[in-house]
This record gives sequence, structure tokens and C-alpha cells, in this order.
Amino acid sequence: MPVNLEGCRFFIKTFGCQMNENDSEHVAGLLIRAGAGKAPSPEESDIILVNTCAVRKKSEEKIDSFLGRLSPLKKDRDRVIGVLGCVAQLRRGELFKKRPEIDIIVGPDHYHELASLLSQKREGKLLKTSWNRVWHEIGSAETFRKSRVSAYVPIMEGCDNFCAYCVVPFSRGREKCRPAAKVLAEVQDLAGNGYKEVQLLGQNVTSYRDQETGEDFAGLLRKVSGVEGIEWIRFITSHPKDISPEIARIMADRPNICRQLHLPLQSGSTAVLERMNRGYSREDYLEKAALFKGLMPDIALSTDVIVGFPGETEADFEETLSVLKKVEFANIFSFRYSPRPRTAAARIADDVPLGIKRKRLIILQEVQKEIQLARNRTFIGKTFQVLCSGESQKDAGRYSGRSEGFQVVNFGSPRDVRDRFVDVLITGCGPYSLHGKALL
Ligand code: SAH
Ligand code: SF4
Repeated sequence: MPVNLEGCRFFIKTFGCQMNENDSEHVAGLLIRAGAGKAPSPEESDIILVNTCAVRKKSEEKIDSFLGRLSPLKKDRDRVIGVLGCVAQLRRGELFKKRPEIDIIVGPDHYHELASLLSQKREGKLLKTSWNRVWHEIGSAETFRKSRVSAYVPIMEGCDNFCAYCVVPFSRGREKCRPAAKVLAEVQDLAGNGYKEVQLLGQNVTSYRDQETGEDFAGLLRKVSGVEGIEWIRFITSHPKDISPEIARIMADRPNICRQLHLPLQSGSTAVLERMNRGYSREDYLEKAALFKGLMPDIALSTDVIVGFPGETEADFEETLSVLKKVEFANIFSFRYSPRPRTAAARIADDVPLGIKRKRLIILQEVQKEIQLARNRTFIGKTFQVLCSGESQKDAGRYSGRSEGFQVVNFGSPRDVRDRFVDVLITGCGPYSLHGKALL
């Protein structure tokens, strides 16, 4: 069916993870194909889409307040307001009751139909959310990418792990994998179009399995690293129970796979990990981290940590701190536990008081800040290859990019080096970024 959104202007606000950012790039590409144009702000648009994240209570609250701010815009023009993503999938029709200004709710399994849904004139509201295990291919040609050198490439979606605290199996559905041939074709196409970096995406990339050929993540990674022209390959997120020595060996062998790994710990206490249903112990995690560090001493490891999971004692929390000290992560994302609908943990008492959760989060972040500062200081005087993403947001006339270890590097350069690899001499650092000057 020909889809026509000619003359319509759309604005997408994205919350959440890289998967959502990638989905928004797909949605933008599909709407542009149907004739619509991008608007610079919600005020100047005919269609406002909010791509949502449900992973923590705080994320849902932020989205609700954003939707509240859109409400006056509904009055001065005949606009369509749509909700996409994880909250759409999780809350479905409930959202219409809470926020009457919403016109359509579309879950991630229906983005390929979105342009057609928007172009049909209709009375009343529209709800389209469902899950199946079929991968809907939205290829490179339909994707509007923000960057001309770095691209997200989804390889799987959903999760079958059911960690006790996590809403993802309910908001993103069960695992489904993209055929390896399609992944490879997209990476080859990106390389042909001058892309230098790809990030393979999935809630659990290490669960990847091609439905037809049975190929696993290690096999896929090997194939992607054989694509000429792609200089940096990253992947996110890996699960500590599934990441294998084979993956470590491939990373160590292939120069175009970045020596960087995000490996969510969640807790350093085996008792808490068991109650979280994570499928590994503190010792298993430390062993895996040591394996990767042993093969690649310069690897940058990062992680996610939850504080205040039900029943977490002071001793459990101390165990988490001790893992941070042992592993010396390059970066961590840390969160206070919040109960999420439909999860197993939501059925047990959220018994760590808010004040204690807050205190633990501050301590954790302070400990990590010192680790990062000490680690970053060791880089002063070294030269890093940096993929420049553009001008620094804080400092006009300076540039910003990421190192192979995914660290933010801000630097001075006599020339515009946007979208290029550049060697940067590191001259200083803070706990969260490095600074230096381009060697041109
Ligand atoms: N697939 C990834 C994580 C996805 S969610 C993995 O397996 O680790 C991103 C992060 O949000 C999680 O790693 C966890 O640290 C945090 N998170 C998830 N549910 C949470 C909850 N109920 N409360 C607090 N943090 C949570
Ligand atoms: Fe959530 Fe666990 Fe699945 Fe990660 S592995 S998405 S934390 S259920």
C-alpha cells in the first residue's frame, strides 16, 4: 500500500538505551520515506512521537512529565501524539486513560507499519502492541542515521532471562534474532557508505542464535570482523553467564574489535545474585573479568550495578564495593532498585529503606569516581586514537569523541576533524573524561 505523509513534519523524543535510539532512527527513516520531514521542535511538528523506556520507575516518571508538557500543544493545532517503545508495550491502553492527549500507542513490533498507521485518517485512538518471534527487517536504506561514521546494527531483541527485578522480558518480549546474513549485508553496506564503527545491539547479544543456520554470537562476531572498512566493532549488552572464552579470544585476535566490554554485574554478592536470578556467582563474574583482562590487559570494562535490591545487607553491599575495587571498571552505571510491574521481585517487599538506598548509591559512586580518576591519570602522556563525533558541547572550538575504550575525550584541534579518526595526546583528565590535543 502506498503510504503518503507528504507535507507532514514529525518530531521524535527518545528516552532510554541504544536500542531505542536505533529504533528512533528506523522510525525517522520510514517516515521520511513516506514523504514526511523532520521538525526541529515539538511546537513545529504535526506528529510528535515519544519513544519510551520502562526499565526503572524514574524513567517512567520522566516520560510522564514530558507527556504532561506536550498536553498544551494539543490545543493549538491538530497534532498527532504517539507513544512508542517499552512503556507503550507495557502499559498499553492504560496510557490513554492517564494521558487523554495521546492518540496512538505503537509497540516495537509494529514500527514497520507506523507510516501507514499515521497516514490513515481515523477517528478515535489507535493501539497496536503485540509480540511474536518474527524479526521485522528494517534495513539500512530505511534508517535515518544521526552519524555518518558510526552506526547501530541490531542483531537481536528481547530477553528470556527473567532477572527478578527486570521488566525487559515484558516490555521487549521474548528473544528474537535477526538472520546473520541480514546483519552482515547491513554491515557491508555501511562499510561501502564510509561508516567506520558499528555497534551490534541487543538486550543480550551473547544469546544470539541464527534461527536457520544455528550460528551463535561468536560466529557472527567473527564474520562481522571480516568486513573490510569497518575499523571499530563494539557490541552491547553481554550477559556474564553467557560470555565465553571464545569471545574473549576473538576480541584479542581481531584488531577491529574494540577492547571494550560492558558486562553488567548488578551485585557483588552471590546471595543477592541468586535472588536476582542472574545465573552466576561473584566468583564466576570475577573469573570472567580476569579472563578478559588476562588476554587484553588494556581492555576497558564497564558495568551496571543496582543498590538496595530486596534483602541487600550492608555486608552484601560491601561485597559489591569490593568487586569494583578488584575489577577497576572504566565506567559504571548505577541505580537504586525500584520494583517494576510483572517482575518476580515486585512480589517481595521492597525492604531496603530509601535513605539507605540513597546512601549506598552515593558511596558506590564516590568509590568508583576515585577508581576512574586513578585509572584516567595513567593515560596522561599517552596517545589515543579517537573517533571524533563533533564539537565539544561544553567548550566551543574544541572537539569531542570516544577512544577505543569508549571514553569521552575532549581535545583541541587546529582543523575540523569531525567524523574522522584522529590521534590525540592526552594532557589531562577528570574522573569522567580525558582531555588532550590532536596530533595533526
Ligand atoms: N540487558 C541488560 C540490562 C538491561 S536494563 C543486562 O542483562 O544487564 C539496564 C540496567 O538497568 C540493568 O543492567 C540494571 O542495572 C538496571 N535495572 C533494570 N531493572 C531495574 C530495576 N527494577 N531497578 C533498578 N535498576 C534496574
Ligand atoms: Fe533484564 Fe536480565 Fe534480560 Fe538483562 S538479562 S534484559 S537484566 S531480564
